[in-house]
Amino acid sequence: MATYSHSVYLQQSTLKKEGRYKGVLDGFDGPKTRAAFKSSLNARFKSHPGSVRFVTADGYPPRPAPAAAWKTKVFGRPGVKGGRGVPQAKLIPPFPMYYFGKRIRTIGCHQLIEAPLYNALSELLRLKGLAWIKGHRLDQYAGCYNPRNSRGGTSKSDHSWAIAIDLDAEHNGNHTPWKAGNQGKPGWATMPTEAVKVFRKHGFQVGFKNSGGTRRDMMHISYVNRT
Ligand SMILES: [Zn+2]
Repeated sequence: MATYSHSVYLQQSTLKKEGRYKGVLDGFDGPKTRAAFKSSLNARFKSHPGSVRFVTADGYPPRPAPAAAWKTKVFGRPGVKGGRGVPQAKLIPPFPMYYFGKRIRTIGCHQLIEAPLYNALSELLRLKGLAWIKGHRLDQYAGCYNPRNSRGGTSKSDHSWAIAIDLDAEHNGNHTPWKAGNQGKPGWATMPTEAVKVFRKHGFQVGFKNSGGTRRDMMHISYVNRT
């Protein structure tokens, strides 16, 4: 299902300026565009000192354990409010996304999760299509980089490393329970099971485990190895 995408067009023009893409700027996400994007990512991984040794064969970084020390080992030190940041990529999402009603052009995420995040979003688009994504409000982006402590906690949030994004925060709140099959029932979070699977496939964990077999905070899609 090849459809024109303005974000692909913008990506192609960036890749062309970098000298990595020689094809036409047609807005179609074909093999030439993918190859150019991969080569651009690889160059960025190499230019990020300290990260290269962590990049696995398929180009994804390893998934850290939840403890801050592990996240720092893979991604470097977390950002500090008003102070140092983290090495960020400007990911151009493969479909239009909105931050509280305003169209976003890029997602500022950690450079090392640009590839898995882009691939997960692209795979969702390929598998399910834009209407499905919009219908499940997965185009409603609620942030990535935010140097702060985890909600109600003293440890740093995954957002301090820019390794997590929040999607459809309104229907997938921290205290709203989630269970596969219960989406759409009153009082339950709505994050679709298919999206959870696609994000997992690309290294992301969605939400946190509750006791009793449910999950919570299903807006939170994080490149961390937690259950
Ligand atoms: Zn979050």
